[in-house]
Amino acid sequence: MRFLLSLLCLLSVSPSFAAKTVSTKAVAQITARGLTDAPVPAPEMSAIPEGRYWVVVRCSGPAERSRLAEIGLDIAEIKGGTVAGVISSGLLEVVERAGFKVQFKTSLEKYNASMGRDFPQQDQIYHNYDEQNSMLKDLAKQNVGAAALGTAGASSGGRGIAVIKISLPNPKYDSRGPDAPKKPAIALVGQHHAREHVSAEVPLNVASFLLSNKDNPKIKTLLENVDVYVLPSVNPDGAEYDIVGGSYHYWRKNARKLPDGNIGVDLNRNYDSFWGGPGASPNPSADTYRGPSAFSEPESQTVKAFFDGHPEVTICISYHSYGGDVMYPWGGSEGDISSAKDLQVFKKMTSDVAKLTGYRPSKSSEMYVATGDFTDWLYAAHNVFALTIELSPKGGGGGFYPGADAIGQMSPGNIDAVVYLMGFADNPYRLLDKEPKSLLDLQKEAAEKTAEKAEAK
Ligand SMILES: [Zn+2]
Repeated sequence: MRFLLSLLCLLSVSPSFAAKTVSTKAVAQITARGLTDAPVPAPEMSAIPEGRYWVVVRCSGPAERSRLAEIGLDIAEIKGGTVAGVISSGLLEVVERAGFKVQFKTSLEKYNASMGRDFPQQDQIYHNYDEQNSMLKDLAKQNVGAAALGTAGASSGGRGIAVIKISLPNPKYDSRGPDAPKKPAIALVGQHHAREHVSAEVPLNVASFLLSNKDNPKIKTLLENVDVYVLPSVNPDGAEYDIVGGSYHYWRKNARKLPDGNIGVDLNRNYDSFWGGPGASPNPSADTYRGPSAFSEPESQTVKAFFDGHPEVTICISYHSYGGDVMYPWGGSEGDISSAKDLQVFKKMTSDVAKLTGYRPSKSSEMYVATGDFTDWLYAAHNVFALTIELSPKGGGGGFYPGADAIGQMSPGNIDAVVYLMGFADNPYRLLDKEPKSLLDLQKEAAEKTAEKAEAK
């Protein structure tokens, strides 16, 4: 039912391309390299820690925000001279001792009640872990030859981290041998942070859109020339933990039980890029806990192994919510990346994606410096043009639980952005041209030339 709902939702929102019915035409079965089948069953859940607050704290500028994040405040909103977010009760004192003024605090339970959201009742359209997997299985089953489903690895709780590869055959890339050209790819990674459920729904919708429109000439050409890997949720334990008992828990981290009894590591502070620096907490009770070492977590290890094994990925989007931003590295340093050329590509890409989505373009660290970030690592380690998108419903805000309508609202612009980026996956540096030509433009030109030649004969 949910799958149908999502499809219906997609059919009604599909942006620039006419939606087509799902084709089950069987072509050569593709397999995603290094992927295995069948996600691992879910583990038992331990109790959600109590004593966390939603707070509003006076603070100005990126340096102070970074300091608060280091103490362990999980910053969700930046407004005027304040930030709002989640903090564990033990760390509230530390915030005050550090000289910050806490303007407002309320228990997360009360804050949650005031927001009036509840996953099972109002937000049925969202997919929990099992539902995500059955949606992905359905997509793979209904698109044999265009989709391959597998797991990239397992979470600390033993859940499979699903990856779906979307691809159409192309003789240019399908030949074997050491010199065969490798088909470029883009990757969409969702839900590093547990409670950002829309950050899984949007990439799921993108996958669904591409597959249900794979016979559309533009989408077909793109999928013949660019593979798309979608990892909708790299934090499945945290995501399940966040909705345990039928209400939301504002859970951000993974759900690994730490030796000291605390739970969870902030996966997006756990990558080996500026790890251990500002904007992440060394304190295991903090929502921004960076972990005992870089890549200490099975989830971040899984993501690392996936990208280490897929050097053909040139562009990546990491989805978060709910700021309404498109951001490029660095997040972990105030400085710029050292390659001036790459920086120009990032800036162009970010501003174009911002136009398509309606979000604000910026360098990640402009908001505040936060170290151990996934996109920083992916660019530093593999030169992937990796962007962070902070999804937001129209008009902004909406909190971490923006309700059922938000998914449909967010999807069209974000689908357009992915389709646009696919057009440059073979060579992102083409974005530096005065009038950048996408893969579709190049294919069209080539076809016209062939036609001219044929006429001349
Ligand atoms: Zn996030």
